[in-house]
Amino acid sequence: MTAEAPATPRSHGRVAIRASVRPRDLMEPPEVAGAWTAHVVTLFPEAFPGVLGLSLTGKALSEGLWRLETVALREHGIGRHRNVDDTPAGGGAGMVIRADVLAAALDRTPPGLPVVYLSPRGAPLTQARARALAEGPGVTLICGRFEGVDQRILDARGIEEISIGDYVLTGGELAAQVLIDATVRLIPRVLGNQASLAEESFSSGLLEHPQYTKPAEWEGRRIPEILLSGHHAAISQWRADEAARLTKERRPDLWRAHLDGGDSAKDRQLSGASHQSRDRREQRKDQGDEPDR
Ligand code: SAM
Repeated sequence: MTAEAPATPRSHGRVAIRASVRPRDLMEPPEVAGAWTAHVVTLFPEAFPGVLGLSLTGKALSEGLWRLETVALREHGIGRHRNVDDTPAGGGAGMVIRADVLAAALDRTPPGLPVVYLSPRGAPLTQARARALAEGPGVTLICGRFEGVDQRILDARGIEEISIGDYVLTGGELAAQVLIDATVRLIPRVLGNQASLAEESFSSGLLEHPQYTKPAEWEGRRIPEILLSGHHAAISQWRADEAARLTKERRPDLWRAHLDGGDSAKDRQLSGASHQSRDRREQRKDQGDEPDR
């Protein structure tokens, strides 16, 4: 007996298994030409794909219907400790991510994609903005940490800021996953049932009607009879009425935009982010301070 590895591959039954086959290759998603791609600049690449690796978005990722690339900010840090941040100019608590470090990381992402910094100061993320992003080739996302990023990188590169809500997270990674999830599910074939998109909240500018499923009675509460009637026109009318009632009650802002009429009002209401970025670009143009890229 010898402890040396056999020169020929071990045979398990009738199938010879070669150790030289790299299992990683077998796990790589198939390349789909031109697949929508999210490039994420982050201090924590290991946070991805996170929840995006589950369920429908995860399946679509493994099928190559969309792609995810992370750029590790730390690799572009300064000095032996690869520092990415420094103290705020003017004093105060916390640290700020350096513009030069972030610029070096951004230079590793492909040109020509919208660049978004996830930030509580940004325009609220909307369905309309997610839809617009889904229609493009992809997006580059910057996840902040600490007190955020040096303002100069945002100004110099004309970077759009998007918020996922009026609260402060510890870092931009969860916000980036929220934005990617909202966007990727709008890419054709990612959702099993694309028809469900047509009726869900915001797609028509209104909140969605309530949903029910079996059993027909639970804890003494019955499903509204109309939904069990099989009368499709009446069911559609009930759903439209409920969507209107809920929107009026819960989101008078959306209801007013809906009443204002049609798509233009709806888009004005729902696409704050793109308008914010366009307005800023126009403002910079007026000041002769156009973005470099
Ligand atoms: N000092 C910043 C401020 O007051 O606006 C908050 C920085 S926060 C602690 C760190 C990072 O988390 C931000 O740079 C941003 O990337 C992310 N973040 C926090 N809240 C967010 C939100 N509501 N939407 C999107 N990103 C958020």
